Amino acid sequence: MTMVLTSPALGASQNLKLHVIDRKSGIRKVWVAVLKDGQEVPLLDKTYSSAGLLAGGQTHEETLEIPFEPKAKGIQDGKAVLRFVGRDFSWRNWGKGNAQYQEQEIVIDTRPPVINVLSRAHYLSQGGAGIVVYKLAEECPTSGVTVGEHFYRGFSGMFKDPAIHAAMIAIDYRLGPGTPVAVTATDFAGNENRVGLQHLINARTFRRDKIALSDGFLDWKMPEFVSQVDVVPGASPLDVFLAVNRDLRRANYETLKKVTAQSDAAVHWKGEFLRLPAAANRAGFADHRSYIYKGKVVDEQTHMGIDLASLAQSPVPAANSGKVVFAGTIGIYGGTVVIDHGLGLFSMYSHLSQMTATEGRMVAKGDIIGATGVTGLAGGDHLHYGIMIHHTFVNPMEWWDGQWVRNNITSKLEAVAN
Ligand SMILES: [Zn+2]
Repeated sequence: MTMVLTSPALGASQNLKLHVIDRKSGIRKVWVAVLKDGQEVPLLDKTYSSAGLLAGGQTHEETLEIPFEPKAKGIQDGKAVLRFVGRDFSWRNWGKGNAQYQEQEIVIDTRPPVINVLSRAHYLSQGGAGIVVYKLAEECPTSGVTVGEHFYRGFSGMFKDPAIHAAMIAIDYRLGPGTPVAVTATDFAGNENRVGLQHLINARTFRRDKIALSDGFLDWKMPEFVSQVDVVPGASPLDVFLAVNRDLRRANYETLKKVTAQSDAAVHWKGEFLRLPAAANRAGFADHRSYIYKGKVVDEQTHMGIDLASLAQSPVPAANSGKVVFAGTIGIYGGTVVIDHGLGLFSMYSHLSQMTATEGRMVAKGDIIGATGVTGLAGGDHLHYGIMIHHTFVNPMEWWDGQWVRNNITSKLEAVAN
């Protein structure tokens, strides 16, 4: 007979799961109690019927779910012991059966974790980024910031006090003023707390752009994509393009989500992010693109980075220091390098003709990681440059602006580090 507890910490309300097995004579009795401050509070006392004289028990295996609300039982928070007694139907011990005793130390914690937000003045923008610094009164396996439906986890370890956490956050370009932002934490006992964050989100409008699809472009680009999408044999180049622009784009985003799921609990970067030198902006962040073929709109998508054009095959510098977490080919993005700058902040470089960065290696701000090109869905030599906060693309322009970086990120980290 065994008792299995999933967590040694018990919260305000839960079901204790108890898996009881007795293959031989069967289960006769199960008794569970909590011992706290010298008091024994029974939670369960169940007696099982026999299959008949000398035949043993009817039940050999059962999963019991015992509802447990410490407050309702008058049990205070703190250390306690969970005691379990099981008996079987064997004829030993003068017919009382074999007894199995088990005790486990537990912690009763019915209070939600106290969250103290340390950072102030969270001025955010639609499509932009920010940082929230908070302190937890107890250790929590999960904590972070929710922005609408999005969750951005907090990291600890870069401050002297391990209770202080920082979460880099993103305001998805589709989320405007009024989006609820809150710091959340769940402790080991499962108690959750949620504290609204005082903040302001500036509304932003994004440009609309038209992309003309020529037969020349489709005939040049589509053959390499046919094997990457699900199209009928002999599909027209336009049909292949539509599958690439919709389905492959979505699949490529899933790949990027995986690449950016883990991040170092450190601030690898310093100061403003570098922009590709001597380059012109060819397309902006969150441009709404209408794709036109023979005078008709055939598709619409949003451009989640900035296109920068310089001389063909220009060397591309790492925008800031960090760890190369991806160097390879991703569908519409072609040759791509992704750098983890820590705390969930990533930069990505796409359509590269060459990649000189190595996955797993650290790079310093300005190190050449590759060269611009026309790989993926690029129609001309350029760099597609993106910034992600975990799974969310944000406006790279904020990160090129030293003053924005100081006011909105660095100063908030420094304010608590000292
Ligand atoms: Zn682009």
